[in-house]
Amino acid sequence: MSGPRYERTKRQDQHLVGFECQDCGWVSFPEEKRICKRCGDAPADMEEVDLAERGEIQTFVVQEYLPDDIETPQPVAILDIPQTDGSGEPARAYGLLTETDLEEIEVGTEVEARFREIFSDGERPINSFKFAVPREDKA
Ligand SMILES: [Zn+2]
Repeated sequence: MSGPRYERTKRQDQHLVGFECQDCGWVSFPEEKRICKRCGDAPADMEEVDLAERGEIQTFVVQEYLPDDIETPQPVAILDIPQTDGSGEPARAYGLLTETDLEEIEVGTEVEARFREIFSDGERPINSFKFAVPREDKA
């Protein structure tokens, strides 16, 4: 059974949306996959699920050498992001960190999504998200 195809929507620019395999519960993020990476179901029966705004760092690396228009050093983390309603499995996400000092992050640090323009393809901005250590003193 093949699910509907999802176009990238405004909703995805402001919420984190994952796609849960209805066979095994694996959550694809940020895009729907046609084949489940875990159980191999193809075409996978994926259902959209809302993800929390905060996730937990599972591991991270610091990239020092990137194209000139990307700030370095650039920490890149693998995050587990729980589903908003607390059900199912968290999504395993790959995320760039921003506004974050390297000393602030370690495995287990909670970070929140920041929606922003990551780069422009020359015609239009590409809206996406990065993650940052939450700041209670910044709105
Ligand atoms: Zn699956």
